[in-house]
Amino acid sequence: MTDNLIEVLVPIPLLEKFSYLLPKKLYSNPPKPGSRVIVPFGNRTLVGVVWNTDAKQLKKPKKYKYIKEVLDVEPLLDKESLELADWASRYYHYPLGEVISYFFPPSLRKGKEAKFLETKFFELTSKGEFFDRAELSRAPSQSKALELFRTEKEFSQMTAKAYGISTATLNDLLSKGLITKYVRELSPYKKQDNSSVDSKKKKLNEEQQHAVNSLNKATDSNTVFLLNGITGSGKTEVYLQAIKNIISQGKQALILIPEIGLAPQAEERFKRYFGERVLSFHSAKNEREKLDAWLGASKGLVDIIIGTRSSIFMPMKNLGLIVVDEEHDLSFKQAERFRYSARDMALYRAKIKKIPIVLASATPSLETLNNSLVNKYKVLNLTKRATGAQLPKYTPIGLRGKELHEGLSGELVDLTEEELTKGNQVLIFLNRRGYAPSLICRSCGWVSNCERCDAHMTVHTGPLRLHCHHCEAQKEKPKSCPSCSSNDFQSYGYGTARVEEFLKKRFSKFPVLRIDSDTTKKKDSLNVYLDSIKEGKPMILLGTQLLAKGHHFPDVTLVGILDADSGLFSADFRGSERVAQLMTQVAGRAGRDKKPGKVILQSYCPEHPQIEELITGSYQSFALNLLEERKSAKTPPFSFQAKIQSESPNSYVSRDFIINLLEAASKVKKLPKDLRVVGPLPAVMEKKSGVFRWEINIFSGSRKSLHEFLDLTQTILYMPSTSKKVRWSVDVDPISLI
Ligand code: ADP
Ligand code: ZN
Ligand code: ZN
Repeated sequence: MTDNLIEVLVPIPLLEKFSYLLPKKLYSNPPKPGSRVIVPFGNRTLVGVVWNTDAKQLKKPKKYKYIKEVLDVEPLLDKESLELADWASRYYHYPLGEVISYFFPPSLRKGKEAKFLETKFFELTSKGEFFDRAELSRAPSQSKALELFRTEKEFSQMTAKAYGISTATLNDLLSKGLITKYVRELSPYKKQDNSSVDSKKKKLNEEQQHAVNSLNKATDSNTVFLLNGITGSGKTEVYLQAIKNIISQGKQALILIPEIGLAPQAEERFKRYFGERVLSFHSAKNEREKLDAWLGASKGLVDIIIGTRSSIFMPMKNLGLIVVDEEHDLSFKQAERFRYSARDMALYRAKIKKIPIVLASATPSLETLNNSLVNKYKVLNLTKRATGAQLPKYTPIGLRGKELHEGLSGELVDLTEEELTKGNQVLIFLNRRGYAPSLICRSCGWVSNCERCDAHMTVHTGPLRLHCHHCEAQKEKPKSCPSCSSNDFQSYGYGTARVEEFLKKRFSKFPVLRIDSDTTKKKDSLNVYLDSIKEGKPMILLGTQLLAKGHHFPDVTLVGILDADSGLFSADFRGSERVAQLMTQVAGRAGRDKKPGKVILQSYCPEHPQIEELITGSYQSFALNLLEERKSAKTPPFSFQAKIQSESPNSYVSRDFIINLLEAASKVKKLPKDLRVVGPLPAVMEKKSGVFRWEINIFSGSRKSLHEFLDLTQTILYMPSTSKKVRWSVDVDPISLI
């Protein structure tokens, strides 16, 4: 009686797995774990995934419903994917039924067939082969088509058309039994042979060669490598060659990159090297493309997948290596719903699969750095720039008491002029888009606060309007001050659009390219910009962190950082780490090729020890100091952190929810001593998008204690008696306090 029950995961926010009865006709061939099934759920039907086929907890048989349909005879997910999903669900405290849906592209989630596009094919029959064409003398087009079929044997509908065979002719041949029709999947990929790998590889320097050798030696072990190479040291070249070795063994590689904007560039570089064996995967692909990529990877037809965060779920037939490029990048962490870190899931995936993984960065995260210091990771250092160039020199410029030109000091303006006239490119970095961060009334001091957030609305131009970057609310600039009716407004502070206006006026002979998320909304627009930068003509590149990531700009000789202070005085203990990473990455765009580079760092407190450390030391020395600070403060990576946050339109309700949760938890079990609970406190930005957010941050020296506590709170959070008026979230290893 117990054998006819199976456990199914359904995509709903509940912790349970649900048991269903198997119809009799499936007893001999039950669906396997990882196959999709259609099941009734309440008064809906859902696409579920079989989890376990020997559930033995049948108690009240009448309670169970029958599964309606089995969608996949063979499971779509292999054991490793199921294991990864299970781990991620427990680690991030997120329902397994929802986690598992991340492993499928949208069309499979909806229950569509796991097939490539199907096309009609026409094939010559044996009758057609021996038929006397003289009998078709009065039907010349049929006769001609038959002749074509005799040489080609079969045509897809498309090719038949291309050969000039009309549908009517095909139908005539069909009705005479000279050809037959069938439907076949049309894979967009062909398995490549190894000869298509580019042989024009670069001659590696000693450090690069050592790194490649180490990677090649580790192909069958779960070794974690930190490829710690300064900006422009040829990290990509190193893992390209390691991947070459992997695919020559018939295995696949998965490369995670931080930003969708980097995908086309990265894909191009990989394609130059590996030809058509490479496929990119990211959210901008359409449903068909996503399914094709998924099928191609899981059937082993594609050797290399290069993609953003969500590619970590891509099933691969024979994965042999994972690379996480720019491993420190925050975009690897999903900020809502299932708050996973693709980097950390990649580490676990490599562990299950017993394969090597490479974390590459010029500015490794403190967690990764610490893991390498305690020898969990093997470090591969690249200390020189691959092109032979020097790292750029930093010059701090103090801003106190200086008159600025829309954020630029006189020195920076002069240097910009000098470099442009020499025919070079200049990069100006300001991590703030829009025209100005706020609008103020000069007569009464009114400020453009967002009604829905504890934040100012940013001034945007073209057309003039106010825009909240936290809740996306937009409105026209008020005609008169809402508080005193004056119309004496001032845009306060500056963003990239304002600096652009100034630069265009001041350097009218040179192009100014503003690159931020406002100017690169359109698909491919970033690529168009990057192509024009590559032409190498003198110009100014002005942008936000979009410009800091991974790009190779050989003609940039000067980088100007307008506001180095913004992260240093952050309420978040991770602020300094972020600033150091960002500054080092931006600075790393200068002088990457033949021409030496210079970095101007504008600051109101250039004597700040952290700024000094960045200028005179290195990211590495800066990060080691930070690690010491974290150690004494017992903050991550010297403790493990989770955050539970509540959201409600009423601040008290939100607060009480957290208080009640803590109380309920402590009734079940006394809080372990090694757990430090900070809060309940309002979030740093308490009001956001019209709701009030309260939170607790939990720190523990033991991952086990932390997760036991989270397990306990999770059962309380999912109890039917828990208030449904409050939205809540659990964030394990949060990346910011804000
Ligand atoms: P990173 O990934 O460390 O930023 P890249 O791999 O993009 O560095 O390399 C920076 C530049 O140096 C690229 O133009 C690349 O083609 C070039 N390069 C890399 N390795 C070598 C090498 N061994 N010899 C010459 N040029 C190299
Ligand atoms: Zn006013
Ligand atoms: Zn807002």
